[in-house]
Amino acid sequence: MAATTSTSTTAATVARPPAIVEVENLSKFFPGAGGTTLPVLEGINLTLHEGEIVALLGKSGSGKSTLLRTIAGLIAPSNGTVRYRGEILNGANPGVGMVFQSFALMPWLTVQDNVELGLQARGVPAAERRERALEAIDLIGLDGFESAYPKELSGGMRQRVGFARALVLRPDALLMDEPFSALDVLTAENLRTELTALWAQPEFPTKAICIVTHNIEEAVLLADRVLVLGSNPGRIKAEVAVRLPRPRDRRSPTFDALVD
Ligand code: ADP
Ligand code: MG
Repeated sequence: MAATTSTSTTAATVARPPAIVEVENLSKFFPGAGGTTLPVLEGINLTLHEGEIVALLGKSGSGKSTLLRTIAGLIAPSNGTVRYRGEILNGANPGVGMVFQSFALMPWLTVQDNVELGLQARGVPAAERRERALEAIDLIGLDGFESAYPKELSGGMRQRVGFARALVLRPDALLMDEPFSALDVLTAENLRTELTALWAQPEFPTKAICIVTHNIEEAVLLADRVLVLGSNPGRIKAEVAVRLPRPRDRRSPTFDALVD
């Protein structure tokens, strides 16, 4: 009986794509001066569904990086939970790749070795690491730079390495912390355009993107949905649907038939 009820409820509502990440009633406090606690995030609820790009928009200090780091499982929430594919996280999130504002490359490693690092940590054998790294390097337009060191590259090229390092993991979700804000306007625009083009490819393995930004224009340009984070403590103040999620498969048989 219960099963029948639940089936009819599902049929009557618009089906949402499956959730990849679910954040429930999350709070984060840090120790403040003189034994006080500093509330940084409070009562955060958000879900990242398959097929969507979500922007977290907020001023500096509103807790955006902290929220992204809790989703990645790099820091633990003080209260509340983060789930990945239904399972409560207890440690690093196995399904995410991260891109950082400051690139976070290892200066003593070549492009190739920087890109392979995450695979090495996951125990991928050397031959497969190499093959996958070359594939990611090629995908993001870095071919020919495999043996270069970060200091020999421009900011835009360094961030390409940052992208390759995340994409080589073929992450279920890509988390990006102000990935374009250290770049000049044109370089940022180029990389944004390339990211959107990758996202539109049906074979691109990543099923959702969460981008943190303080740039409202960037949020609206990239995201299907924008969550606005207020400060002190960081709470979600508004949620704005920018557009319907973009179709992932633009090269469907129907489309091919139309253009042939
Ligand atoms: P945003 O990314 O939006 O600029 P952050 O998440 O970096 O904000 O930081 C939010 C607040 O939390 C800031 O006041 C910052 O100083 C504080 N904070 C962040 N990380 C820590 C930490 N590890 N220990 C103490 N305070 C922190
Ligand atoms: Mg930040």
